[in-house]
Amino acid sequence: MEIAKQLKEQLGEKLEEHLGLRDYTTMKVGGVADYVFSASTVSELVNAVQAAVNLDIPYLVLGGGSNVIISDYGFPGMVIFNRSSNVAFLQDRSQVMSDSGVYLSHLITSAAAKEYGGLEFLVGVPGTVGGAAYNNVSCWGGEFSDYVRSLTILLPGEEKGERCRTVNIEAQDMKFGYHSSWLKENSGKNVGRKPVILSVKLQLASLRREEIMRRIKQYQQMRLSKQPLGEHSAGSIFKNPSGFEATASEDKNYSAGFLIDKSGGKRLRVGGAQVSKKHANFIVNTGKATAMDVRQLIEQIQELVREKKGITLEEEIEFIGEWSKEQG
Ligand SMILES: Cc1cc2nc3c(=O)[nH]c(=O)nc-3n(C[C@H](O)[C@H](O)[C@H](O)COP(=O)(O)OP(=O)(O)OC[C@H]3O[C@@H](n4cnc5c(N)ncnc54)[C@H](O)[C@@H]3O)c2cc1C
Repeated sequence: MEIAKQLKEQLGEKLEEHLGLRDYTTMKVGGVADYVFSASTVSELVNAVQAAVNLDIPYLVLGGGSNVIISDYGFPGMVIFNRSSNVAFLQDRSQVMSDSGVYLSHLITSAAAKEYGGLEFLVGVPGTVGGAAYNNVSCWGGEFSDYVRSLTILLPGEEKGERCRTVNIEAQDMKFGYHSSWLKENSGKNVGRKPVILSVKLQLASLRREEIMRRIKQYQQMRLSKQPLGEHSAGSIFKNPSGFEATASEDKNYSAGFLIDKSGGKRLRVGGAQVSKKHANFIVNTGKATAMDVRQLIEQIQELVREKKGITLEEEIEFIGEWSKEQG
């Protein structure tokens, strides 16, 4: 029986075929996925991963699509949009249990309503809790991992048809680092069959609502003044070679944005992709960029900074899918 039919038997009519992915990413590039399933709950997320393992097809879980550059050739397998949305507050300990599909902005505002704070520095990051844990999002000197207590992770079966397993792990077992985690560092070995974060338990702090709202406003303004927010981008393209977020002025000399700017990178452009004039570590899609435009621009920036500063910038974003017909 053909794969689409078997997937529909396991996942129902919500399964779609041949869907363009560009509108599901913030960079607005990327080709077509063979199959797409939108999981509204954690159990649908688990079922979708199990269905992919049963049929031995690659899968990719996407949250906000805000840290990926998906190839113009798309994704050969099933893309699972993670729309799980449950947030449960554990009143007495300022803790929250969040599904991995919850958007950070939603988590921050729901927590504020309960007078729990801490994550305000992440306001404006257009990703989900799962994507935040995978990449250990950070900004303005704060890291997501500082708030993570434990995670529930789905380990996919290794052989075709093997049952997936759910495990609970403590934050330290995620081996969080600067824009890294155990899951992200091993992603190259598990392409198309990566473990999936199902939920995260976070430790917040009891704070007055006015104080939380003051912080939210402050961070929103900092972002507005420094980043090209009205344009399509994937946030910072490169990690800072210093290995941390630039907070004080002396740290900025080692930030990727500073190095690109000082190397003359703001004049670079390939097709519809260009280096942002506002923040040199952002690439913006001016409307008609292809994924290949973005990738080639990334390579040009790396070459320029290597030549001018002797430093090789490492990508923070992830390239997804096949990048040449030869690879496929
Ligand atoms: C305007 C803008 C500003 C940004 N600012 C910042 C910033 O200040 N700091 C920062 O660190 N980042 C920033 N980013 C980047 C991005 O928003 C974060 O990295 C975010 O956490 C990515 O989450 P996501 O849900 O969009 O992940 P996606 O882009 O959907 O996925 C990224 C990777 O995570 C994996 N993944 C997603 N969900 C799961 C899951 N549940 N389980 C396992 N793997 C999963 C995906 O498979 C993929 O490999 C910014 C981006 C934009 C567009």
